[in-house]
Amino acid sequence: MQPYPTLEEVHSRARERGEARVYGTSVEGRPLLAVDLPGEGPLVVVTAGLHGIEHIGVQVALAVLDAGPLPGARLRVYPVLNPDGFARTHAVGGAGRVRELRKNARGVDLNRNFPLPWGAHPTRMPFAGGSDPDSATYRGPAPLSEPESSALATDLLAEPPHASINLHSFMGTLIAARVWHPSDWRGYTALCKAFRSAQTGVLGYPRLASPLFDVFTGELEDWQHHVLCCWSVCVECFSLGESLRQHARAPTGFWRFNPRDPAPVVARDAPAVRAMLEAALQLDRPPPRAGASVSLPAW
Ligand SMILES: [Zn+2]
Repeated sequence: MQPYPTLEEVHSRARERGEARVYGTSVEGRPLLAVDLPGEGPLVVVTAGLHGIEHIGVQVALAVLDAGPLPGARLRVYPVLNPDGFARTHAVGGAGRVRELRKNARGVDLNRNFPLPWGAHPTRMPFAGGSDPDSATYRGPAPLSEPESSALATDLLAEPPHASINLHSFMGTLIAARVWHPSDWRGYTALCKAFRSAQTGVLGYPRLASPLFDVFTGELEDWQHHVLCCWSVCVECFSLGESLRQHARAPTGFWRFNPRDPAPVVARDAPAVRAMLEAALQLDRPPPRAGASVSLPAW
């Protein structure tokens, strides 16, 4: 797992950077931590570690914190949204199966556990999230059934952020919330451009724009945009080409999702995350669209 730190190391590094607060507890009793930096202006958030095996996103989140307050905003970082999955991945040296390391301690894919926007229906696309508990994308028995997703939803509903960037890996892709209104679409085009412009040493992560692949699945991004009315983008750090080259040499799940040397990926992606947040501050919040609601529809 070298050079990737343990959960305790991540939390202690995050606590040193700002005002730390425990907003909930995981299935196995680990703290859910949020860290606020001082500032004036809208709340903007960065989350990472919703999937237990994706440690590079956590490293990028820590680097965003290291860079300090964001001008014109109050920056909050949730460094590890799924601490049980993160700790389990560390405990087995990253050697387990992806479906076991990705989910929470009850085997739920937390990025399929958020309520679908009002009127949206689950689909049968691969990875869409389903009712089979053995699947890598099991959505759980009900929306927000898990302590990790429910505590995060409660915390975000208390003060809906202006923008949220949710760090994952791998694929080197930007996945904006699924929207159909042209002005929302253009907003995300501007945010993705700001991200790419700030990336160095790589072609720049493309936006996943095909509605064939971007469907409503219970993801955090869609819930944030349509229920919280906040700009929300999932960033899949670590490009596909880099991952494939590395995986050919070391074919384990962990080294498919995380670079052997996190430093170059962190150095190019953390400034891009901050640039995307700065671009979001130039936009008004996305307005509520027909049918948007803070109620929690069932699947
Ligand atoms: Zn992920």
